[in-house]
Amino acid sequence: MQYDTVIVGCGPVGATAANLLGRSGLRVLVLEKELEHYPLPRAVHLDHEMMRLFQSAGVIDRVAGDMVATDGHLHVGADHGVIRYMGTVGKPKPYGWSNDYFFYQPELEAHLREGLGELETVELRLGATFTALAQDDEGVTVRFQQDGAEQVATTRWVIATDGARSAVRKGLCVALDDLDFEEPWLVVDAEVEGPVSFPEIAGVPADADLQRLSVMMCDPARPATIVPGRGNHRRWEFMLLPGEDDTAMMAPEKVQELVGAWMKDVPHAIVRAATYRFHGLVAEQWQVGNVFLAGDAAHQTPPFFGQGMCHGLRDVANLAWKMAAIVNEGAEAALLETYQPERDPHVRAVIGAAVAAGRYICELDPAKAAQRDGEIRAKARAGETAHDLIPALATGVIHAGSPAAGARFVQPILADGRKLDDFTGGGWRLFVRDAAVAGEASWASRWDASQLPDGGAVLAWLDAQDVDAVLLRPDHCVFGTARTGAQDLLAARDAALYPHKEIAA
Ligand SMILES: Cc1cc2nc3c(=O)[nH]c(=O)nc-3n(C[C@H](O)[C@H](O)[C@H](O)COP(=O)(O)OP(=O)(O)OC[C@H]3O[C@@H](n4cnc5c(N)ncnc54)[C@H](O)[C@@H]3O)c2cc1C
Repeated sequence: MQYDTVIVGCGPVGATAANLLGRSGLRVLVLEKELEHYPLPRAVHLDHEMMRLFQSAGVIDRVAGDMVATDGHLHVGADHGVIRYMGTVGKPKPYGWSNDYFFYQPELEAHLREGLGELETVELRLGATFTALAQDDEGVTVRFQQDGAEQVATTRWVIATDGARSAVRKGLCVALDDLDFEEPWLVVDAEVEGPVSFPEIAGVPADADLQRLSVMMCDPARPATIVPGRGNHRRWEFMLLPGEDDTAMMAPEKVQELVGAWMKDVPHAIVRAATYRFHGLVAEQWQVGNVFLAGDAAHQTPPFFGQGMCHGLRDVANLAWKMAAIVNEGAEAALLETYQPERDPHVRAVIGAAVAAGRYICELDPAKAAQRDGEIRAKARAGETAHDLIPALATGVIHAGSPAAGARFVQPILADGRKLDDFTGGGWRLFVRDAAVAGEASWASRWDASQLPDGGAVLAWLDAQDVDAVLLRPDHCVFGTARTGAQDLLAARDAALYPHKEIAA
């Protein structure tokens, strides 16, 4: 095989996959049909977990400057009073980053591609359009068009990150499970030289700054979202009402009428206006032989919590450590069969939350909207953040049944300002309460929590779970925890990666 992995599509998800795999030393070919990355923003929000992944992928210094920390989400009802607040001001930041960031997708994509330039084992082919694939037990033969000629590459695996209209997914005849949500919205991006004018909103919490929040106006007259961006970038999303025509809504005078009300005398320039169908779709099969769907090729979500791209980045983080374990450590190929069981329920849970929010956000009947306001206010939990929507892994390569298995592990900032992952390095890590806790393995670094310059954060985490050891996977997910010795935990990891190997007692 010429390559370990061929990645089809170099959007944000494919580019992150290539950075992760290239840093692990895998031979990677990236095929991208366009010569330039997509020039207009789609995603505008990501969360702390993505920043940690960019750390792992070695691109954090490139992309951190693109990011503007923000304060969460505010939902406003039909009566223009707050119905739900998921603010992060003053909340702990256990993962080493702010909870939420706004960014400009074209800048992020450019920086992710620059990262590939550093990796000798990654070959990025621009203007290369995937056309077909065939596979057998050994691997996959990929066909693509470049410079008017058909070309062929052989590879062990393919990751299809070729977006919502994925040619790979269609070629494999994988159906999409429709989560029964589809609403038309107009998306407007603008450069705005000043603050946005909000209408009078009752009940805005004292710590909330509307200019730093994603504000969802659940107004049955016209549901709309207002999102700050990096620099002067601002995003508006307006629901189309029944009978409204996409083309008419994108006309400059209509767009100006809609956004102008929010900017009064503030100078601004519209960057673009486009209509989208917001929907919830999940592929029924994420793996076909040695081909894996990831990112929008595998699922699409309404963007109400800004998680679409984040899902895709979690997908490729999941695939990347498993592919690296197979190539570099001889783990069994069946390890990759845990990809869909781990990711599919996770994605469905978060898309489910976005669809549920979408159903109340998109309510156009004033009476039902008023009733909805009461229900959401009654259900809203004080102190909730969007982070609470992201579940732990429930199955797969975890030591199920041990406390916190499948959860994301904290990333404290150390006394010298470094973040925990930078201090420990990546890969498998075993944190023990103190030197007396037995257990070590050649494939994991071992850290005595009582000696870490982390202000006691890891010890506090162990205390909270009432355990003495925690084993982390390379994607910072908790494999499992143990009381007293960690030997059984380490053995359980071996059994997961090498199910057919005799493990010495
Ligand atoms: C209005 C809107 C708002 C959003 N807001 C957010 C948000 O705030 N936060 C968030 O996380 N997500 C958000 N999203 C979702 C996010 O934009 C997508 O999930 C993300 O861009 C998907 O990335 P991807 O790499 O999977 O696919 P894409 O970005 O679509 O990239 C696919 C790539 O594959 C290439 N390609 C396609 N076919 C071929 C082929 N045959 N051969 C070679 N290359 C090919 C394409 O040229 C493209 O470069 C939003 C989406 C929309 C529409």
